[in-house]
Parts: sequence; structure tokens; C-alpha cells
Amino acid sequence: MRILLTNDDGVHAPGLMALHRAFKDRHQVTVVAPDTEQSAVGHAITLTDPIRVRRLEGEDGLDGWAVSGTPADCVKLALHELLPQPPELVLSGINLGANLGVNLLYSGTVSAASEAALQGITGLAFSLGTLHRPDFSFAARFAVHLVERLPELGLPPGTPLNVNIPALAPERIKGVRLVRQSHASLRERFIRRSDPRGHVYYWQAGETMDSEDDLSLDYPAHLAGYVTVTPLRLDLTDEELLRSPTLAALDLP
Ligand code: MN
Repeated sequence: MRILLTNDDGVHAPGLMALHRAFKDRHQVTVVAPDTEQSAVGHAITLTDPIRVRRLEGEDGLDGWAVSGTPADCVKLALHELLPQPPELVLSGINLGANLGVNLLYSGTVSAASEAALQGITGLAFSLGTLHRPDFSFAARFAVHLVERLPELGLPPGTPLNVNIPALAPERIKGVRLVRQSHASLRERFIRRSDPRGHVYYWQAGETMDSEDDLSLDYPAHLAGYVTVTPLRLDLTDEELLRSPTLAALDLP
């Protein structure tokens, strides 16, 4: 299969390498990924700067391009300029750190898969639930397994899948759960410091928090040790409020 591989951690990130190693022998894998880390850029695209590309001449065994843009830029540019033929599948990741709950809105990893879906191509986002000493091997194995099973899953082309793999030893992973995006949000935290000239600066250090204990939701299921899979919608409309007579009564001044 023709596969486009991208991420938000940057073209040389170990998680991307792990996916590349897992797929390169049986598929035609082209990498088009950001040249620097683009975590938490969401679905941003670059409009006010040029987007520069650099051919990866076999660096780390990769075939493709490093791009001075966001994950969504990478997918757009790959599809419309760089690749001789459109890919049949877009893989994004494996991200360092889970993408659950509200983090789906900030995630560059998920946005690359969403961008693929907007372009009519199946996009799969993979994230590993740790920020420290990651071992991507089981997550990559799961990705291969999922891609092998794709034909029988009946996924419509415009549907991205968000997949999170817990950072546990494979024998401790309890199974796979199809789950809804949870309401897990960030407990907002800023670390306030001063630079050598006395100017205050901040680091965002928020942590994902959720009090729910419902295994049909992504965050609780992830914490409980399941690989979680969520089919995503890109239409943000609130269907229920769309039927609200009070909102519908809104008129001109
Ligand atoms: Mn990232």
C-alpha cells in the first residue's frame, strides 16, 4: 500500500521511526513530516510564511521530505505537491504522549489524520501514553495489526481514527476498546519564572484530568490499560442545540 507517514514530534522523532520500521518492508512508505517539533499546534496551517521542504536523502533510512510547517501543512503539501500519486493511507505518530479528551483539539498528531480525512483519505493517529522512556514497539505492532484489519472495518474514507496505546508491557494491556472522546480536560497550570534580565515568562504545564470512571470513554479506558480507538467527526456542529427553538429565534437587530 502507498502510505504517507507524518507526525507532530518532528521527522527524526523515535515514534515516527518506529512506525517507519514497522511498515517499510511491506508497504511503500513516504515520510513528509515537520522538520521541528510541532506538538500542540492543532490543525494550524502556515499562511504568513513560506513553507520550505528538504529532501530526506536516506537519512535514518527515510524516503521523503522534512517540512518547515505544521502536520496539516505536511499532509496538504504531500498530497498536492510532493507525492507523485496520492497515498492510500496516512499514518500520524506515534506521538510521545497520549491524545485523549480535550487534547484532541490541540493535537498536531490527530490533526494530521483529520487533514487526511478532509482530503478523502483514511487517516490514523497513533499516540503512546507516556512522556518518559518510551518503548514504541508494541504500539507499532498494534498499528500494523490495525492496518491489516482495515479492509474489514468498513471505515468511510472521511473518518479519522484516534488510537492511543497505553505505555504498559504488552501482557498487561487488557484489550482494545472502541470509545467516545471523554470530557477529560486540562488542569491548567503555568510555571512562572524570571529570565536573567528580570522579565517574567511562563511555561504551560497543564495536566490532563478526569474524574469519570466510564470505560466507554477514552481517558478512563486508557488509564485502565486498554488500547483505545475513537472514530472522529470533523463537523463540530452541536446537533442538539441546532434544534433549539430559543437559538432558532435569533433575529436581526
Ligand atoms: Mn507530539
